[in-house]
Order: sequence, then structure tokens, then C-alpha cells
Amino acid sequence: MEDSLKCNFCGRKRNEITFLISGVNGHICNFCIEKTYSIIHRRFSAEKEKNHVEEKKTIEIKKPKEIKKFLDKYVIGQNEAKKVISVAVYNHYKRIIYSNKEENNEVENVEIEKSNILLIGNTGTGKTLLAKSISKLLKIPFTIADATALTEAGYVGEDVESILTRLLQSANYDVDSAEKGIVFIDEIDKISRKKNNPSITRDVSGEGVQQALLKILEGSIINVPPQGGRKHPDQKMIPINTENILFIAGGTFDGIENIISDRIHQFSIGFINHDKKNKNEKNFLKNITAHDLRKFGLIPELIGRFPIITHLNSLDKIMLKKILIEPKNALIKQYKKLFDLDKISINVTDEVLDIIIDKTLKLGLGARGLRSFCEKIFVDYMFNIEEINKNQILNIDKEIVIKKFNSL
Ligand code: ADP
Repeated sequence: MEDSLKCNFCGRKRNEITFLISGVNGHICNFCIEKTYSIIHRRFSAEKEKNHVEEKKTIEIKKPKEIKKFLDKYVIGQNEAKKVISVAVYNHYKRIIYSNKEENNEVENVEIEKSNILLIGNTGTGKTLLAKSISKLLKIPFTIADATALTEAGYVGEDVESILTRLLQSANYDVDSAEKGIVFIDEIDKISRKKNNPSITRDVSGEGVQQALLKILEGSIINVPPQGGRKHPDQKMIPINTENILFIAGGTFDGIENIISDRIHQFSIGFINHDKKNKNEKNFLKNITAHDLRKFGLIPELIGRFPIITHLNSLDKIMLKKILIEPKNALIKQYKKLFDLDKISINVTDEVLDIIIDKTLKLGLGARGLRSFCEKIFVDYMFNIEEINKNQILNIDKEIVIKKFNSL
């Protein structure tokens, strides 16, 4: 009786299989179970993948106020820049959606121009952080390019196309999603023409790179080497349309306040008392125009590609303190978390925060300096982590910190 049993799916006999499971009206063998499982599994994975891709392709549009509120969680101050960026990003995505719809009626045919953004502000004031936070909010590919590393084609350095290679990589080679991504170009001021005189002989390091950049800013189809640069000359190029890529450029533009102030004072000669010249950098940056950027050494075509110009304020003590403790990823929160993972609670006194801030201000690197001072304070504790008493709160106070800094 036992020997006459067989699988009702494949017909294999009892002695040909490892086990047989009985149902109400029949049996199934281990081979058939495995096979059906793999069919079901494959089907599910394909569906999951499809849903995932579709999910990625739909961009969620947020209203400017929502965007600003999100930025507030990560970036302290810089309200003017946040407001301008929120509106620009909102319009940018409306533009993409609108251009995807093919409507032919007259009013609908208005072309909305691209809204690339130029951020001007001292180092470490949050330019990169703003751009990064936007990409986090919108869940789109994002890449940072350093303008100083770029060269015009044929010279030593990176070709501008490498920027798009990186964007493509951050989009996992999904061309469609890369074409809606954000590129942050840092240190754009460092590729200025060396002299203000536009008739000067062409200078490769500055103007040449600006010209090369124009190519990708203009909104055209660029052939991008998927593996990057010159190391893989045989790779098949991927065409990328840059029309809907949002470019955010940042730079410190050292000395531009003088250009702005000269222009303003030249214009208002005789109307104001020169002794009372307001040398407040914040106010000058507020008045920046394309003319000032041109005088600084950017070519007019490049300036024209950045219709939105905004500035970031230098950080004062109050802002630096907030940066240490308030944002979602604030440094002090990060250190607390690191210790917490070892079940150690730490308390950093207010006076300690003030010492860190004073030292950071003197360094002149904006909020960038905060981290290095925090590291100096915490590194020994972290190195000797197993010696710290877990039942007590680790108190880091002024005396400890002064001693630490003095011994360095
Ligand atoms: P940059 O203006 O030179 O691009 P970043 O955005 O890279 O400066 O800032 C450097 C670091 O300093 C960031 O990682 C961030 O932690 C901190 N930071 C700078 N500005 C701010 C700010 N306004 N709010 C919060 N953190 C800031």
C-alpha cells in the first residue's frame, strides 16, 4: 500500500522522493513543493520591484511653507535663503510636472524658465546643508561637485560631465530619476575670471571652466560616461537631458561686499554721510546684483543661468549654540546617542557649549569648526569607554574642558 503512493503533481513514486505530504484528495512531493515555492517567490519579487520603481518615479511635491518647515529642522537661521529656496524648489517641480503634460492650448503653452539657485555666504554657514536637506525632503538623487576640481575638456582634471556621472550613480543608473535630480556645485566663485577686465586673454582655469559648465546648465542632452572620466575610454555613453536638473551653486565670493558697497556708494554719492557707511556685510549681500557677480569674475552667460541669487548670513554666537543642540542631527545629540549606545548618559554644561562656540568663532570656519572642538573633548572618553561608570551620569563641565584644551 505504502509503495503505491505517488506525487499527484509530477507522478514520482514514493521511492524516488524524500518526502510526500498528504492532502484531502492527493499528495505532493518535496520537489514539487520547492518548485511552486520558487515560482511564487519570483512572482512576488517582480511585483515588489515594480512597485518600488513606480514609487521612486512619482515625485512628491511639497508647498513652499512645508519645504521651509522641513529645512527648519536641519538648518538654523538663514530664513531668507530658506524662503527663496523653498519657492524655487516648489516652482522647479511644478515646472517638471507641467512640461510632462502635453497641453496645446495657448495659455498652457507658456514656458516656465528653469530656476537654478546661487547661494552666497561664508564657509560653514549651511550652503551645502541646505541643498542636501532639500534632496532628503524630495527623495531625489543628489550630488555635490567641487568647481575647483573641474577643467575644460582636454586639460588635467575632471571634465564637467563627471558631475552627471555622479548624479547618475546616486540615482542607481536610473536615467529618468537622475534627470530630475539636484546638483550642488560648490566653490563656484573659485572659477572666476582672474581679472575683472573681460577683454583679458582667455584664462583656462577660470573662464574656460565656466564655459564648460554652461554646457550642462543650459538644458541640453549630454553624453555621460557611466563609469566616469578618462579611465574607461571604451564605455558606452548614456545620454542625459539636463533640462530638468536643478543646479544649486554655492560660493563665499570673498571680497564681493566691497564691490557691492562701492557700487552703492558710487550711486548715492552726495546723498549719504560717508562716515556712517554701513559696513555690515549682511546688508551688503542683500543688495547683490548680477552686475556685482560679473565684476567679481563670473561670465554673464553663467550668471544668466542662475536667475535666483540669495545669501546666507555669517553665524553669530546664538546661532552656533543652536546649531550645537537644536537641529535633528545636532552634534551634541549625536554624541549623546553615541554614548547612549554604550548605556552611558552624558551631560554637557552650558558653559562648555560657550567655550566650544568661542573657539569656533575665532577659527572663522563657520559651524564647520564645531565638530573638531567637540571631537577634542570627547575622544578620550570614547577611547576609554569601558572604564566609564554606567550608573553615573558623565558630567562634562567647564573645568574638564579648559584642562583638555590647555593640554593640547
Ligand atoms: P558651507 O556653507 O560651507 O557649504 P556646510 O553646509 O557644509 O557649509 O556646513 C558645514 C557643517 O556645519 C554642516 O554639516 C552643518 O553641520 C553645520 N552647519 C553650518 N551651517 C549650519 C546651519 N545654518 N544650521 C545648522 N547646521 C549648520
